[in-house]
Amino acid sequence: MLSNLPELPVYHQYPLTLVSGAGALVCDEAGNVYLDMYGGHAVAATGHCHPRVVKAIQKQAEKLLFYSNAVHIPVRNALCKKLVRMGPEGTEAVFLCNSGAEANENALTLARLITNRSKIVSFTGGFHGRTLQTLSLCGIDKYRALTTIDGEPLFKHGVIAPFNDAKAAAELIDKSCAAVIVEPVQGLAGCFAATGEFLKSLRKACDKTGAVLIFDEVQCGTGRCGAFVASMLTGVAPDITTLAKGLGGGFPIGAVLTNHRGVEAAAPGLMGSTFGGGPTACAAALANLRVMESEQMIANARKIGDRMKKALLKIPGVVEVRGAGLLLGAALDRKARPVMDKLLAKYKIIIGASVCENTLRVMPPLNLSADSADHFTDCFAKVLADKEN
Ligand code: PLP
Repeated sequence: MLSNLPELPVYHQYPLTLVSGAGALVCDEAGNVYLDMYGGHAVAATGHCHPRVVKAIQKQAEKLLFYSNAVHIPVRNALCKKLVRMGPEGTEAVFLCNSGAEANENALTLARLITNRSKIVSFTGGFHGRTLQTLSLCGIDKYRALTTIDGEPLFKHGVIAPFNDAKAAAELIDKSCAAVIVEPVQGLAGCFAATGEFLKSLRKACDKTGAVLIFDEVQCGTGRCGAFVASMLTGVAPDITTLAKGLGGGFPIGAVLTNHRGVEAAAPGLMGSTFGGGPTACAAALANLRVMESEQMIANARKIGDRMKKALLKIPGVVEVRGAGLLLGAALDRKARPVMDKLLAKYKIIIGASVCENTLRVMPPLNLSADSADHFTDCFAKVLADKEN
């Protein structure tokens, strides 16, 4: 479709040219309307173009479109205070940036500043972004392969441990370890949740050795799993949490939330970002979080997620449903790609893929209605009942 444009091919693109969106619906240039169960890559947390988010962006852009962290800005202060209030237990301060990978890079920098150590432990199936360091820590071989030359890793301080294996992780988390980075629910891998026991054991090992525990909640956080951050579902608080994707309601912003350890290690000149914490991004994120609270979208994510999970499990052809809230991985008895294609072509439903070739990723806006959820599961059942798929 858009292959004649001067744009490098990155994602496996949908055959769609979208021009507008509202709530869980998006519209193409011919006026066709689609149900967005992919949430624009898990970004449209409060739905596409939520009027309060759009208004906040407009108002801030008219007043002061941008100024850097070199000055105080009221909307940035307000956002940081709100994130400290909403964040995991112990959150004391925030560093703002522009994306998930940048948030993870800075979380790892902070961990090195805290510990003066080099080893980073990450996990099979984990994904943390596309910079050299974050890709090197990726537990998905095909992505990590981009960071090796002739089999030699370009970043030499990463160690990958088996996900959900507390014993193997504990052996690697020693006094040379700066940080442990883990997704409480692994998104791209196909929505595999860390067990509460596993996260507790990581907390214990980090407490014992002084390593910094980082929860990458870029995808599973900001309400998506039915709590502000997914780790709240397990009662385990990390030292550092990273957020991005759904945080700005569609406007690019990333955040590093830290407890006292990061506050004690940080000093002017060590970390920075020209655009990080810009007022328009902060206004978008602040409005997005306020909408999420006032419209009780996190509770809705929990409720609708449970409803969909139950309905999906009853569909012949669905072998497992993983994840939590509105980050669900539906594992099928067949390849997922033809099912995705049919959902789009026949029922105008957009849905996400994952690295598991039999798993579809469901990550719609958090305010998805019960009717839209039921429409999706009904159409899904019809596609799976068709033996051709
Ligand atoms: N961490 C996780 C868990 C992600 O899912 C992603 C993106 O998919 C990233 C980090 C990287 O975020 P970004 O693409 O905003 O750099």
